[in-house]
Amino acid sequence: MARIVMKFGGTSVADLDRIANAAERVRREVEAGNEVIVTVSAMAGVTNQLVGYVDQTSKMYDAREYDTIVSSGEQVTAGLMALRLQSMGISARSWLGWQIPIKTNEVHGKARIEDISTDAIVARFAENQVAVVAGFQGLSPLNRITTLGRGGSDTTAVALAAAFKADRCDIYTDVDGVYTTDPRIVSKAKKIDMITFEEMLEMASQGAKVLQTRSVEVAMNHGVKLQVRSSFEDTPGTMVVDEDEIVEQQVVSGIAYSRDEAKITLVRVNDKPGVAAAIFGPLSDGSINVDMIVQSVSPDGERTDMTFTVTKTDLGRAIEVLEANRPEIGYENLLSDDNVVKISVIGVGMRSHAGVAQTMFRTLSEKGINIQVISTSEIKISTLISEDYTELALRALHTAYGLDAQ
Ligand code: ADP
Ligand code: ASP
Ligand code: MG
Repeated sequence: MARIVMKFGGTSVADLDRIANAAERVRREVEAGNEVIVTVSAMAGVTNQLVGYVDQTSKMYDAREYDTIVSSGEQVTAGLMALRLQSMGISARSWLGWQIPIKTNEVHGKARIEDISTDAIVARFAENQVAVVAGFQGLSPLNRITTLGRGGSDTTAVALAAAFKADRCDIYTDVDGVYTTDPRIVSKAKKIDMITFEEMLEMASQGAKVLQTRSVEVAMNHGVKLQVRSSFEDTPGTMVVDEDEIVEQQVVSGIAYSRDEAKITLVRVNDKPGVAAAIFGPLSDGSINVDMIVQSVSPDGERTDMTFTVTKTDLGRAIEVLEANRPEIGYENLLSDDNVVKISVIGVGMRSHAGVAQTMFRTLSEKGINIQVISTSEIKISTLISEDYTELALRALHTAYGLDAQ
């Protein structure tokens, strides 16, 4: 007997037939004698629709009400899944975040899970009851509903697996695993059998939305046995594992892209101590994350250009903040461009292999693609390019790193 967490994403519970299909998978695990916690996303498209309602009602919305609204999709699917299981003769009940409770901090819209009570659900395992938990939601210290950020049901699943000391956490989705790059864009993308936590973390944080970044962090910190697999096919999925479990390591494991980027250039800022602090301090005070940064050389020693990226959603606010702080920063002009994409090449093998960056630069140049900003970490190289070249760049890089499926 094992204790397992099964998570079904939006497309896997998109309608009643799909919920029935997912429930069949739950049945198999129950019949194998396992203790099962199911966690579900909202039906595909529902959360977007709810976010749209919020935006149309109020531009400067109260984040607590945003969470009350956008968390509701998961309440529906949790109830439907429990009902479906009951109709199959399986004991099941739904649990909303506040009923367990899944306690989070009070950062509405991107809350972090702090504690999950396990006693009530464990007691029901003794009665062979399946727990169906609404993903994506929790409860703040002030008793308000919180949400965990878009894609947050993955994190619900992994956090449940950690709290309940589950033997496995299976993420069921609309692809049969993690691929070398998004299989919807590059048809030659290959399924990866095993990927390290570190690489998965980079892939997720650089835009591969197959797992929410935070879920990978939690899995890594708690040693959760995490697998991504298909809701629709019975093929083996991708295991996310520690580095020492991988025998044959590739230099480059995957390529991710993020369209959620916007570039800002401050033209001719003062080239003197404190200028970076004057720019990035107010942005950080406004909870605006800055990702890539380049500062150009200053020909006259007095003025320089500063280019950096923020998320597309933060662009408007970032410009407001920079304009409000213009006297302190002292720039001549502010340019912005949201027609950009960040492409990242990821692999732990980069630590011991030279030339990975060069292959990226050469490949993009051969396609006539201009690189606007570059950033690197130990196991990742990212370049910012025009969004118009997303597909071309992904395909060319995929071939250049020898990742194409035969
Ligand atoms: P769910 O609703 O099940 O949570 P998501 O849409 O959040 O599913 O994530 C699955 C999607 O992630 C896939 O349909 C695929 O288009 C996309 N994706 C992006 N990069 C990758 C990758 N490297 N491997 C697999 N899927 C990827
Ligand atoms: N329904 C939420 C979203 O669309 C959470 C999730 O699907 O993981 O972001
Ligand atoms: Mg998802």
